[in-house]
Amino acid sequence: MTNNQLIARRDLAVLWHPCTQMKDHEQLPLIPIKSGQGVWLEDFDGKRYLDAISSWWVNLFGHCNPIINQAVKAQLDTLEHVILGGFTHESALELAEKLVEITPPNLDKVFYADNGSSAIEVALKMSFHYWRNLGQTRKTQFVTLENSYHGETLGALAVGNVALYKETYGPLLMDVITVPSPDCYHREAGESWRDYSLRRFADMENTLAKHADEVCAVIVEPLVQCAGSMRMYDPVYLKLLREACDKYGVHLIADEIAVGFGRTGTLFACEQAGISPDFLCLSKGLTGGYLPLSAVLTSNKVYEAFYDDYQNLTAFLHSHSYTGNALACRAALATIGIFQSQDVLGRNRHLAQIMAKAAERFKEHPHVAEVRQTGMIMAIEMVKDKLTREAYPWQQRRGLKVYQYALSQGVLLRPLGNVIYFMPPYVINEQEIERMADVAWQGIQRATQD
Ligand SMILES: *Cc1c(COP(=O)(O)O)cnc(C)c1O
Repeated sequence: MTNNQLIARRDLAVLWHPCTQMKDHEQLPLIPIKSGQGVWLEDFDGKRYLDAISSWWVNLFGHCNPIINQAVKAQLDTLEHVILGGFTHESALELAEKLVEITPPNLDKVFYADNGSSAIEVALKMSFHYWRNLGQTRKTQFVTLENSYHGETLGALAVGNVALYKETYGPLLMDVITVPSPDCYHREAGESWRDYSLRRFADMENTLAKHADEVCAVIVEPLVQCAGSMRMYDPVYLKLLREACDKYGVHLIADEIAVGFGRTGTLFACEQAGISPDFLCLSKGLTGGYLPLSAVLTSNKVYEAFYDDYQNLTAFLHSHSYTGNALACRAALATIGIFQSQDVLGRNRHLAQIMAKAAERFKEHPHVAEVRQTGMIMAIEMVKDKLTREAYPWQQRRGLKVYQYALSQGVLLRPLGNVIYFMPPYVINEQEIERMADVAWQGIQRATQD
């Protein structure tokens, strides 16, 4: 047995992996990773893999980044963690100051949690509780977009809309109001993203006009519905949504857990629409992919609705044990430091162009319906019929074939169903982009042969 096989065998005896039918591992080898460096991961047999998906979209500046490593090591010898109720510490405080500084206007207060789903739970509860503190007890509902994803705890799952994750748990979930998505894959031939997104807004406007009295907030993933097959839409939708939320007295929750920190071309996706949400949820790239941490930013106005004498029982009594963990906050500060000391967004614009060029040839592929891109996210929609856009039956698991082929060639792609995408760390270089695209091309060739 190889080293990989020995470790995989021990692992499968005790470990239950996320988002996995464990029986798949009877055929599909589990890959034990020994070390990481930049965009590369190395297994226990010495084979290397290009991490084209940033380890589930969290990594920004490569594995074992020297700057972040150094910051975490220094923090480790000073303070690893302390309760944040009644206490504070420098890294939590500095990070809050930084987040207020770099995020859109009117986001003045930072509430920490320790993963993306928890941040969503916080934003939902805060929005509901805000209206309740104001005496608006009829507001108990949330509006969400079709094909959206906000995490997997019960509240986050309820406001999401990807059937694969949600359907089974339907009986446990709160009811939400679901509005058609501006997802531009469905636009008419010749119609622009902008026109389609504009047209799609009518449903949202009607829903808000009808239900505003019962609605706490609208929750969206700005610009890219990532887990929903990397479907994309135009910033104009967010601009109109901001206006409508103000008009109808409803909060706007922007879930930038996946798209924040430069993924879409701007530091935050909301910037492209020139808007500020009432709640901004951040996680994933927040720590550069190092440690679990999330943050919900909101306005002084929201904060003040909770600020009162204790006896009035208006406080937000939500907490997580590892809230504001010092090591995680320090990793986040080092990550933001890289954005502030280097022209990351400028470099990303260049990398995005190279990705666009590398993906150009996929447009002509007989089994590719669309190649779409927003900044550092590139997606290739593999279909059975290019003309009608008929999808391959999911049971055929053709994306899995691409995954397996890519692994054999030393590239970690992890297609979402039949959608192959690139979402690499920002330290990837031109040759690595070429390599990633070549392997994806070959993988798609193989997966669409019959
Ligand atoms: C990943 C993700 C979440 C959930 O974050 P976890 O840390 O996995 O709980 C929520 N929203 C979006 C948009 C995400 O991509």
